[in-house]
Amino acid sequence: MRAVIYTRVSSDPNNLGRSVEEQEADCRAVCQREGWQVVRVFSDNDRSASRYAKKERPQYKALRAYLEAGKADVLVMWEGSRAQRDLEAYLSLRNLCAREGIGYSYSGRLYDLTRTDDRFTTGLDALLAEREADLTRDRVLRAVRANAAAGKPHGRLLYGYRREYGDGGQYVAQVPHEGHAAVIREAARRVASGETCYSIAQDFNARGIPTPRGGSNGWSLSQIGRMLRNPGYIGKRVYLGKIVGDADWPAIIDDETYALCQSILTSPKRRTQRDTAVRHLLTGVAVCDVCGGRTRVQKNRTHHAYICMVGFCVSVKIEVLDRFVVAVLMARLSRPDALDLLAPPEDLGEVEKAQQEAAEKRARLDEWYAAAARNEITPGGLAVIERTLLAEIEDADQRAQHVDVPPLVRDLVGPDVEQRWGRLTVGQQRQVVSLLLELRVGKTYRGARSLDPARLGNSRWRGDSRTWAERGLVGEPRTR
Ligand SMILES: [Zn+2]
Repeated sequence: MRAVIYTRVSSDPNNLGRSVEEQEADCRAVCQREGWQVVRVFSDNDRSASRYAKKERPQYKALRAYLEAGKADVLVMWEGSRAQRDLEAYLSLRNLCAREGIGYSYSGRLYDLTRTDDRFTTGLDALLAEREADLTRDRVLRAVRANAAAGKPHGRLLYGYRREYGDGGQYVAQVPHEGHAAVIREAARRVASGETCYSIAQDFNARGIPTPRGGSNGWSLSQIGRMLRNPGYIGKRVYLGKIVGDADWPAIIDDETYALCQSILTSPKRRTQRDTAVRHLLTGVAVCDVCGGRTRVQKNRTHHAYICMVGFCVSVKIEVLDRFVVAVLMARLSRPDALDLLAPPEDLGEVEKAQQEAAEKRARLDEWYAAAARNEITPGGLAVIERTLLAEIEDADQRAQHVDVPPLVRDLVGPDVEQRWGRLTVGQQRQVVSLLLELRVGKTYRGARSLDPARLGNSRWRGDSRTWAERGLVGEPRTR
């Protein structure tokens, strides 16, 4: 009989199996004992055969082609798991051997896959081999989860940090890389004070600051945004896209700056704010009440005006609108209860409830992890529970995501608000307006020479369900 030998060693460092050379020697001994002639040896080194394996096994493919061509009468392996740890692969190999009348030999025994008993025995071995591969995968996942829970980094190093290792090469700590951390802090500070990601990226490129991944493409606005949305920089551990707790590395950005960056970066307005230098208070902030379009400053015969850029529906003199908006804003921020108005208490109740809910669900998930570690539920069962709970935690986290009154606004509140306002840059002032106000500018009517406040009747304070007109702050806006 013509025998073909297949050997394989996986990359599992704890694999106590034998080397491919040892496997081949064992298989050759079996062939010699049985009087088979070895016609070909196929060998995959460092290849995992489980269904989770990502690498191709070129020799395994070649082996199948060889068997299909009818060039051998018996396939010899050291043990059943050498060929596959995956039931589907076993079935396909079994069908091939049965169809071609090829003997199937491992662990020194020969099986005839057309026989019921032999199909049962080899099928059972394939099941056991698959279970072993599943367990290996579970062990790896458990280690990843344990690292995540302990706040230890795994995988790719986050830009802005470096890792310290002990003499034995073991991980000791992740600490800020001062050069890179300075880049992150600068970007955060500038975004928080109202600068656009676009202008920061341009500036970084002009200064030749290398990007996180190197390369010659330079910084892009989305790269800056992505960087500043990474919770790793406030010392949070992220697993499967969710914050799972505190990391064991120090923060690079402080919590307040980070929160401010989030509120700016997730604002839908951001897309239109590409101009590098902010010159006018309400550019892009004021919205056309007729069509919802953004406004931009244009020269309108004799004066500069905010004009609807979509349908040119509305136009209002810069100084007139700025003066009115600033006056309303100052009045609001100088009130003794200004901070309460900015953060309505009923809102905070909802936020607290959501925070509590997220914490409870995290605790419940931890209990399930503990139960799984005690073998009280199966890995499959845990996976189902984990998926459900993680989704619910994400939902609660989202509802709990409440940016407190941003420091920029909080520092303004008080009787001398006007002096403090005057010390802000236009970019910061604009930041304050867009944080507090949804400004809608309605149509003017023929003959009106100054701003009729009723044109702003559909504007509202952020978080307020009622418009300025509904609050009686200004008159009802005209509909035509
Ligand atoms: Zn318009």
